[in-house]
This record gives sequence, C-alpha cells and structure tokens, in this order.
Amino acid sequence: MKWKNQILNLEAYKPGKTIDEVKKQYQLDTIVKLASNENPYGYSPKVDQALRNFQASFILYPDGNASNLRDTMAGHLKVDPRQLIFTNGTDELIQIISRALLEPGKNTVMANPTFSQYKHNAVIEGAEVREVDLINGEHDLRGMLSQIDANTAIVWVCSPNNPTGTYIPKEALQPFLEQVPNDVLVVLDEAYYEYVDKDVAYDSLALIDQFPNLIIMRTFSKIYGLASFRVGYGISSIDNIQSIEPTRPPFNTNVLGQLAASTALLDQKFVENCRSKNEVEKQKYYNFCQENNLGYYPTQGNFILIDFGLDGDSVSQFLLTKGIIVRSGKALGFPTGVRITLGLEEQNQQVRNAIKECIELNSFIK
Ligand SMILES: *Cc1c(COP(=O)(O)O)cnc(C)c1O
Repeated sequence: MKWKNQILNLEAYKPGKTIDEVKKQYQLDTIVKLASNENPYGYSPKVDQALRNFQASFILYPDGNASNLRDTMAGHLKVDPRQLIFTNGTDELIQIISRALLEPGKNTVMANPTFSQYKHNAVIEGAEVREVDLINGEHDLRGMLSQIDANTAIVWVCSPNNPTGTYIPKEALQPFLEQVPNDVLVVLDEAYYEYVDKDVAYDSLALIDQFPNLIIMRTFSKIYGLASFRVGYGISSIDNIQSIEPTRPPFNTNVLGQLAASTALLDQKFVENCRSKNEVEKQKYYNFCQENNLGYYPTQGNFILIDFGLDGDSVSQFLLTKGIIVRSGKALGFPTGVRITLGLEEQNQQVRNAIKECIELNSFIK
C-alpha cells in the first residue's frame, strides 16, 4: 500500500481504560472515571425532554447546515450565523482547519505540552511542527512569535490549556495577536471557556472583529456534558468560515446532536451552576495540594494537573487499583504529573484519600 510516509509511525489515539475494563480487571463494583474532563454533573435535563419529543425520521440525512443550532448559537453569541461552523466535535474542526491550511513546506506553531490533536493532524498533512515549551505551565507567547516565519500557516493557542489548565490573560493575548502576521491563522481553543472565573474571563469574541485572522473553537463536550453527541463549533470572520467550509464533510453533525446542543445552549442556568460547583471543588484540591506539598497549576478548567514528583504512570496505576481512572501525565508531556478531572464532591474526596494513601506508601518505600 502507498500510505503517506508520515503516517507510518503515527500512533492511533489511545483513549483511557473504560469503566467496564477496570471493573473486570480489579473486581470492583464502582468506578470513578475522571480521565477525560467530561461533566460530572451531567447535562441540562431539558435535553432529555427534547430528545423524547423528537419526531423526525432517521431515514433522512441531517440538516447539513445545522440551521436551527446555527440560528440559536448566533442569537446566543450575537454574531452573524455565517460566522459559525459546526463540526463532529472540536476534534473534527482541528482536522479540517489542518486540512485546509497545512501541507509539506508549511509549518505550524504550538505550545508543548498542549492538546495532542494539533500536532497529530499537522503530521498527517505533512507540515513541519514547531513546538514551544510552556513556561510555568503557561504559553510562551513571545517564544511562539519568534517561531513564525513566511511558511507558517497556523498558530494554535489553547486557553485554558489542556493539560495544565492555565488561562491566557487578555493583556498577554492582545499584544500577541497584534504581532502575528495577518496571513497566519490563529486558532484559539476555548474548550473550557465556560469554566473560567468570572473575574478573569474576557470577551474573546470581540477579538474576532479586531483580528480577522482569528478563529475561536468551543465545544458541547465539556461543560455542556454532551461529549457523546460530538458537537463542536468555530467562530470567525465570514470570509474565514467560507474558506474552510469546502473541507467540512457534508453531514458531519447528526440530527440528535444538533437538537441536544441547541437545547442545552438555551439552559445557561445549568452551565452557571456547573461552573460554580467546579469552583468549590477546585479550591478543595488547592488546599489539599498545599497541605501535602504537591505541586499543581492553578486551573481555569474542570481538571487539575498535580505534580507528584513521582512517575505519573505509577501514581495513576495505584489509583486504578482503587477504581479511580485518571490520566497519567506521561502521555501528556508531564512525566511526573497526573491530570485529574474535577468530579462530584464525594468522588473528589475519594480521589484525595487514595492520593494520600499513595503518598504515604511512597514515602514509606523511600
Ligand atoms: C476535549 C478537548 C477538545 C475536543 O473536544 P471535542 O469537541 O469533544 O472534540 C478540544 N480541545 C481541548 C483543549 C480539549 O480539552
């Protein structure tokens, strides 16, 4: 077969262990899965209602334009409906943006570590990947600027950043955007936008009017609690969206996903409720880390990266034996860390108890 050279050594995405696998392996009844930053509080109850009342046929293709979701979103964000693109999760938006702009001879700039799919898709398209190490868990925007040249097509900025949770303040992002050449697309990944503290959050959408080379990505997979429906979206200038559209598969979002997303969007009370509960749980983790001398990054997402100073795989393996699934930092570019999704109050307590056990065991071995 004549596979692209660049995919010969590329690994397929490895999702964490499933709940069923862990139950079986360790003979446990209940499993706490806090590995993929899903919403532990579920999703708006209005979604169940809407799905129950759903009447249309499954025979027909879905509305390829996602018209109802588009109009609802445009009204919610106060943008022109033509400024929006809907995709099968943000993952697909990353894929089609890469497909539209990257090819051999071009390069793309991103932080390290950051969300893995930027690099993955760049490699598939045969583009050069330029990674700039984080400084104290934060994007080194100056370093990223210095990597941009005439062949740079995309710069990826993840805020809050996965896996560190750090948020780029407006005072840093604005001058960065002013210095990126205007023929370089800046992708601002805001998968966790709705979790950001009210007192530091800013209106990033206003930057789109100011910077025509900016596209913002958001998703229904995180705070909206609808990961299984696979709905993500992009917001940019009408021109940029028009240019990207031909690379989008025709019926990429499905009929139930569109309905679930547009219904969930109208329940902002639910969203606010999740944000404030997350805030409370976050604070308990901070206190715990301080009491136990564990390093961590202040997070603006629904997850926390804790530095154990130990092999991340062995910590997550220990937690697994307690029925707790988290993400080892090893696979995320933080070998001594573990990324933990903030779960329900009692789940988080269970995690902290297990961590405490792990630390005690380790200091005993040392
Ligand atoms: C979860 C996540 C995504 C992907 O979300 P989907 O919409 O489910 O594809 C994108 N970016 C970041 C930073 C994420 O954490």
